[in-house]
Amino acid sequence: MVDDADRAHLRRCLELARAALDAGDEPFGSVLVDARGQVRFEDHNRVAGGDATRHPEFEIARWAAAHLTAEERAAATVYTSGEHCPMCSAAHAWVGLGRIVYASSAAQTSRWYAEFGAPPAPVRPLPITEVAPGLVVDGPVAGLYDEVRELHRRFLAR
Ligand SMILES: [Zn+2]
Repeated sequence: MVDDADRAHLRRCLELARAALDAGDEPFGSVLVDARGQVRFEDHNRVAGGDATRHPEFEIARWAAAHLTAEERAAATVYTSGEHCPMCSAAHAWVGLGRIVYASSAAQTSRWYAEFGAPPAPVRPLPITEVAPGLVVDGPVAGLYDEVRELHRRFLAR
């Protein structure tokens, strides 16, 4: 169930994705929110420099491992413009983070890239729960994923 607070955090993820696009990077953005609803960390894709592992969800997992207790991590929520890839799903699960809410699913993103004529990604677009079956996830979110699609269309049209 996605509520208004969830949508507000997803809106921030879309802003970060747009900032990534404006900086010449892939349009993905994510935020880490603690149990009190405070944003603790946020980032966007930084793969344009050549390191394709610089996904915001991976950065969040590392930041959380370094700065939060196990209890705080389990009670935190990660919001993201696009569903975690398998690498980030694994990192999220390994560090024991809590719920994930995504605006668009990996299946949607994969379908859009095919529609736009982009080559397939080198990693399968598995759903998060295929990689980490114990995680609680919500998404995709109607009213937001169309905006994510448009960001990806603009990215691939450059
Ligand atoms: Zn990833």
